[in-house]
Amino acid sequence: MAIMPDLQKITVDDLTPFFPNTRGVSIKMLRLDKVHEIISGNKWFKLKYNLEAALKSGHPQVITFGGAFSNHLIATAAAAANAGLQAVGIVRGLHAKENYTQTLKACEAYGMKLHFVSRQAYSQKRDNHYLAELINFFGKSFIIPEGGDNEEGCNGASEIVPFIPEHTTTVCLPVGTGATFTGIRNGLPLHQKMIGFPAIKDGAYLKEEISLKLSLPSPRHWELNTDWSFGGFAKSTPELRSFLQSFYTKTLIQLDLVYTGKMMAGVAFMLQHDKFAEEEQVLCIHTGGLQGNPVGLF
Ligand SMILES: *Cc1c(COP(=O)(O)O)cnc(C)c1O
Repeated sequence: MAIMPDLQKITVDDLTPFFPNTRGVSIKMLRLDKVHEIISGNKWFKLKYNLEAALKSGHPQVITFGGAFSNHLIATAAAAANAGLQAVGIVRGLHAKENYTQTLKACEAYGMKLHFVSRQAYSQKRDNHYLAELINFFGKSFIIPEGGDNEEGCNGASEIVPFIPEHTTTVCLPVGTGATFTGIRNGLPLHQKMIGFPAIKDGAYLKEEISLKLSLPSPRHWELNTDWSFGGFAKSTPELRSFLQSFYTKTLIQLDLVYTGKMMAGVAFMLQHDKFAEEEQVLCIHTGGLQGNPVGLF
């Protein structure tokens, strides 16, 4: 399936009828999940300039990093194949090899070479010596950091901004590495505020990471709501699942358990508890990730 993501498919859906509230707050959703089944949502934007940089600098191969359910890993596998680049995926945890997930099988189907390493080895993913070792072993390669979290990734994410309607007052977005958040914040006019919802436990440290990467550190224009990790990265609860199911029944939009479901649970709570100002025009970004959902969720 070597088809390119199709940005024409992106829509803005009005969810306000499903979230009646007394403050006149409107809720819309930017459907980045529609760009491609596998190269979902924000991942294409973050990969775009990474792959371009690899090609321009004459690298035949990219190396990147992810866990056994990683949306980034599978997106890289598919997008690299599209671009005619070879790809190596460094997979976190030796146990992942014994228990191949659908995500990892699909990565291999796209031609990605998988290399399983211990959690301890994986933690060196930003260490230059370790990266040099990997290149030495796998041959000339362009390194794409975990999650596409580098300058190229942020620059690509800035290109999401033109899809955000001008009348939006607040943009809500799930946060992993923060690269997408950073890229959008760097490109978004300052009068439009952003709220990020970290998908990991204790996501407060991301505030500093994001501040460092922003071209204009202006905390007044953005905040992180760290109350919605549901126990930690890739963890879920029966409440979260039932939220996703009822959201789907109402809107016919599928969310994922790792990122977008957590953000929307947070947004629904904020609406119910009058945390948005009167007449706010809220835009929630659906960043995709549906490939990682368990079979039978909906
Ligand atoms: C990767 C991913 C994110 C997180 O993006 P970052 O740029 O790492 O913050 C959010 N949502 C989905 C569905 C993702 O796959």
